[in-house]
Amino acid sequence: MDELPDEPTFRYRATCSHPGCDRTADTKVAAPWSAGAGRELKNYGLACEVHREPVLARARERRAALAIAEEETVGPVALYDLIAGRLDAEATPRPES
Ligand SMILES: [Zn+2]
Repeated sequence: MDELPDEPTFRYRATCSHPGCDRTADTKVAAPWSAGAGRELKNYGLACEVHREPVLARARERRAALAIAEEETVGPVALYDLIAGRLDAEATPRPES
């Protein structure tokens, strides 16, 4: 049996959600969501360094149009640093400039 070559560590390359943009995203647009005992960051999109504003604006529109169940709580949509391997629970929103 042939020996398999060392496979490079698989890295998920996140790309910007802005239409027509394929740059690598460094920012996650998300809102803290909770329902009962469950908590997570609800992902509204990914943005590269030049599309944070339009992706954030679009996410806020979608968020405003979203119907929320009675037991659900959704916090404000904000920008989060996109760091591979970091748990959502450890993410803190980036202050808006
Ligand atoms: Zn972009």
